[in-house]
Amino acid sequence: MMISVDKALEIILSSIPLIKESERVTLFEAFGRVLAEDITAPANVPPENNSAMDGYAVIHADISSAEAPSFKLKVDEEIRAGQNNEGKLLKSGYAIRIMTGAPLPEGADVVVPFEDTDEKNGIVTIAAHFEKYDNIRFAGEDIKKGETVLKKGTRLDSAEIGLLASMNLPEITVIKKPEVAILSTGDEILEVGSENPGEKIINSNAYVLYSEIKKYGGNPHYAGIVRDKKSDVFNRFSELLKYDVIISSGGVSMGKYDFIPDVLRELGIDLKIQKILMKPGKPVVFGTKGEKIFFGLPGNPVSVMVSFQRFVRPALLKMSGAQKIEKPVVHAIAEEDLFKKEGRRYFLRGHYTIKNGEFYVKSTGPQGSGILTSMSSSNCLIILHEDTEIVKAGEKVEIELIRHGEI
Ligand code: AMP
Ligand code: MG
Repeated sequence: MMISVDKALEIILSSIPLIKESERVTLFEAFGRVLAEDITAPANVPPENNSAMDGYAVIHADISSAEAPSFKLKVDEEIRAGQNNEGKLLKSGYAIRIMTGAPLPEGADVVVPFEDTDEKNGIVTIAAHFEKYDNIRFAGEDIKKGETVLKKGTRLDSAEIGLLASMNLPEITVIKKPEVAILSTGDEILEVGSENPGEKIINSNAYVLYSEIKKYGGNPHYAGIVRDKKSDVFNRFSELLKYDVIISSGGVSMGKYDFIPDVLRELGIDLKIQKILMKPGKPVVFGTKGEKIFFGLPGNPVSVMVSFQRFVRPALLKMSGAQKIEKPVVHAIAEEDLFKKEGRRYFLRGHYTIKNGEFYVKSTGPQGSGILTSMSSSNCLIILHEDTEIVKAGEKVEIELIRHGEI
């Protein structure tokens, strides 16, 4: 039975088991991982009031009289960054030279940057007005002790890893990565690097899948190419049942040698999806057996990428406990007429540009599902909904930003 893209995603997401195991990792290994715990700040960041500039710590009352600013203060030593200043007291009529990040002496309530001062013979002249607390960073202004800083389910990017480091947490608990097997199928498929490939087709899908799985937090395992012989396909799948997820490409269409759905059934896998009303990627197979997940993607490279984006990516993220799994969808102005047949949802490879704050989009040219260059030159998918037949140049269309900025 053919089902809609939305229904298919709903079925997939509601049948995905969450990985329960977690592991400790260092911050060097934390990128892209999903937190298995709420992170509570063990201390204030910054730990104490400190200076945001190189300059002089002074008392605001000493430099706030209404007269033209030319205040003279005696310089009383200096405080360097990292120095312990316990018991250090700033007295009225004095200034203490202070470096960025150094703890503020007691009594000081403003820091005057060097640029606005002139020091001679132990006397500093301040020739500008300042507000109380200018150039001071307060204890806990970034993070307060006891505050929940990051929630369980957060996928860690560089900024979050910086936060963890600033809280002096060298290790954290993250959800274990799903172990994902990749299987290529087809008599015509040859390994990359083969001599004299002739009329055969080189296995590009495995490499696309390997990279995508890594990108979205899975641990990929390449399981090679299996020929279009039913018993071979059966045996190879049986060997792969030890992984959390198995993703195959090819062998799911109507061809005489497309055995995947039959083999999966024979292995006791409950096939929940077999055909989806979309293009490219109609014959996407999805099934489960206990906690194991199976995706039988089509063979064509573009179909693999689009169906991965649409279904496998959210599944992997959800499995590893990530809370945020959508890619941004925005409206763009079509720069050319876009056509389709009614009934299925189309995902055209598109290239968007932003002019005067507006998104504009063009398709990347030939859209055949074997044309991998159309994927490489794209930075978005143009979504043409089921009931659409044409989007005219100048009209708005939905685009999903599959590659925006980051790789
Ligand atoms: P299939 O669904 O098995 O009939 O495959 C459809 C087409 O996808 C094949 O004719 C190949 O051109 C292509 N194809 C299948 N598997 C791969 C692969 N691993 N790498 C690149 N192209 C593939
Ligand atoms: Mg095939």
